[in-house]
Formats: sequence, structure tokens, C-alpha cells
Amino acid sequence: MRVELLTIGDELLLGFTLDTNGPFLARALAAMGVTVAHRASVGDDADAVARAIREALDRTGAVITTGGLGPTADDRTREAVAAAFGTTLVLDDAIADGLRALWRSRGFPGELPASNLRQAMVPQGATVLPNAHGSAPGLWLEDARGRWVAMVPGVPREMRGMWGDTLEPRVRARFGAGTTVVRSRTVRTTGISESQLADDLGELARGVHGLPLAYLPGVEGVDLRVTATGFPPDETERRLTAAADALLAVAGPHAYGLDDTDLAAVVLARCREKGLRLAVAESCTGGMLGMRLTAVPGSSDVLIGGVIAYDNVVKAAHLGVRALDIAEHGAVSELVARYMAHGARLRFGADIGVAITGVAGPGGGTEAKPVGTVWVAADLRGEVRAVTRRLPGDRHEVRQRAAQMALDLVRRGLEKGA
Ligand code: AMP
Ligand code: MG
Repeated sequence: MRVELLTIGDELLLGFTLDTNGPFLARALAAMGVTVAHRASVGDDADAVARAIREALDRTGAVITTGGLGPTADDRTREAVAAAFGTTLVLDDAIADGLRALWRSRGFPGELPASNLRQAMVPQGATVLPNAHGSAPGLWLEDARGRWVAMVPGVPREMRGMWGDTLEPRVRARFGAGTTVVRSRTVRTTGISESQLADDLGELARGVHGLPLAYLPGVEGVDLRVTATGFPPDETERRLTAAADALLAVAGPHAYGLDDTDLAAVVLARCREKGLRLAVAESCTGGMLGMRLTAVPGSSDVLIGGVIAYDNVVKAAHLGVRALDIAEHGAVSELVARYMAHGARLRFGADIGVAITGVAGPGGGTEAKPVGTVWVAADLRGEVRAVTRRLPGDRHEVRQRAAQMALDLVRRGLEKGA
């Protein structure tokens, strides 16, 4: 149960594109109990691809490649794999017809460009893997000894789609059900430092129910991830659930969800449960909080809208913050954050107003209010809470952290039962 991964493209070697396909496939294979024996990247060079394929076939006999299946001359995977198998390319009429139909359905004028027909050239004897997510189909080629290469496109969205549709079932059929798997569970926390969490975890910091623990700090908080390796699927689930429960118990109010949970989605769900509607007022984040909320499908039944109150003129005219208060306390202050939240709630007729004001940098810091100083406030039906932090990082990071901090203030407010 061993596979090799080969990601193909000059952009990967030049460092312009981060290889996300390799990690995605590695995780997906581990989750089904298949070991990734080797991972490599090569450029758009037919000889280099053919050499890498031959080596991988000799070593492991099973390879998944991504990239180089496009219509242009720099897409060399088909011919390289054909060369490695000592075979030639032939035109697949069904693919060619499909490409012509796709061309017409997208409303492009004229005939399909000849270069597109490159995508219909397949190594003799290859099985075509349909691609419901783009134009380049995948291919599966196998030799007389049962050694195989699966080729999928490089565009991550297409690659992921094809993995689920056709490749995973094929790999599974090939290897049969794995006896052991590698799976992880993540407890997402925010508003608490990595070191504080480690202290609170005590003995658990060295492993939770026998599973190793990783601390993953980022702009949204600290993720705690446990990984189970080498157990059967049932046992894996049981251990991960027990470990996550133990971590949730320690993290308490700092934990907001598991795995891919987004804090904005949590806040929207809590508001929806309670029938509450939300408005935002953003200074230094310039709409990032609104973006986080509107990125979640279905947010329109909770979020009413907001103001980018960047200039003090807007804080006064559109949120009713008094110019005198701004002059006396400064735009980045508890009082101004509170009035911004209050103003957003009243002016939008919302139940909750959330506000952010801060010094994102790199300029504008003072001794009293250095770069990274942020105040966030939430007015929950007239009960106003505010918190301040000195956030680390560059301008982008400070803004991301500030948006997360504002969401967390609302979440905690709602949990207290406002
Ligand atoms: P290709 O299928 O080689 O034409 O790749 C199409 C696009 O997919 C490239 O321009 C990259 O932006 C992206 N891409 C290709 N390979 C990878 C990879 N391993 N990881 C992430 N993105 C990739
Ligand atoms: Mg390419």
C-alpha cells in the first residue's frame, strides 16, 4: 500500500506557486491507509518527467502525477509518461468531441483551437478518467506488471474534484480496504496564548490518550491537533473523539470548534439560533470583518450591513461618535470603540453592533498606542463590552487578528447569554 507523488510545473520549482496538490493527496492517502513513499516536483520538461516516472515505477510501482495536462506546449505529462512506458500518443475521439462540445457550450466563437486537441492525445492503452471540473481529463496507464501511473490536472480545484470522483475509488479498488489509517482532529482556540494553553494542559501537553499533540499558532488563534497513526478506522475515531473531548474540557471558553470550523460561521449560527441581527463598524480592518461574515453562505439572514469608518469624519457622521470624544481620547480608544459599536447597532436597527479601531501600522504608532494596538467593542442589545490587545505581526496580520478578535468578542458575549 505505497504510492509516490509527482507534482509537475516550472512554477513549482521557481517558487511562484506553492505545491498544495502534494500535501492534499498525501493527507487523503494517509487517511485511507496508503503510505506516500516518495514525493517530488519536476519542471515542465518531458525528459525530467519521464525520468522521474521511470524511477518511481522501479521504486514503488504506483505514481500519481498532477499538472502538465493542459492544452499548451509546456504541458508535457502525456508524452513523458508515454515515453516512460515505451508507447505513443493516439487521438481519443471521445475526448475530442467532448472538448468541442465544451467549447461551444461556453459560447466561444469559431472552432476549437488546434492546441486544445493536445488534450485529446492519450498514451496508447490508457484509461481516460473523466474530469467534471474542467477541460483536461485525467489518465490512468498501467504496464504488463501491474505498475501504474495516474495523471490528474494541476489546477487544485480540478485535482480535488477528480480525486473524489474517480481517483480515490480507483486507488481504493486497487489496494483494497486498508487495515490502519492516519487521521487527525483539531480543536480550534482563540484569545489564549500557546504558552497559557500548554500550562493549562499540564500532563496532556505531552500527548492526549496516547496521541501526539501539535500546537499550531496562527492569526486566527492556536489550533490543537491530535493525530492517530496505525489504528483501524473504528479505534481511530474512538481515540480522536476522546482526545478532542479532553482538549475541549481544558480549553473551555477559548475553544470555538473542531477541524475546519470558521469563527465567523460560529458567530452567525449563534445569532441565527437566537434570532439576532448584526451590524459592523470597521476602522483599521476596512471591511475585513464584513468579508469574513459575508464569506459564509447564508449570512444575509444575520448580517444587515456596516460602515467602513476609516476617517474620523465617517465615525462622527455615520456612527454618531462625538468629535470631541475622538479629539480627547483618540480614534483608537475604548470610548470610541464603544460608541462605534453602539452607533452601528442603532443606525442599522441591529441587535448587535461590532466595532474595530486600531493602529495597523507600519506607521502611526505612538509610545502610548504602538503599532498593533487594537480596541474592539460589541454592543449586544445595549450591553457593551470592549477589549484591547497589542497584536503582533505586520499590517495584514494585525488586521486579520483584529477581525478574529471582534468575532470572538461577539461569540463570548452570546455564550454569556445576552
Ligand atoms: P497545469 O495543469 O500544469 O496546466 O496547471 C495549471 C495551474 O494549476 C498552474 O498554473 C498552477 O497555478 C496550478 N498548479 C499546478 N500544479 C500545482 C500544485 N502542485 N499545487 C498547486 N497549484 C498547482
Ligand atoms: Mg503546468
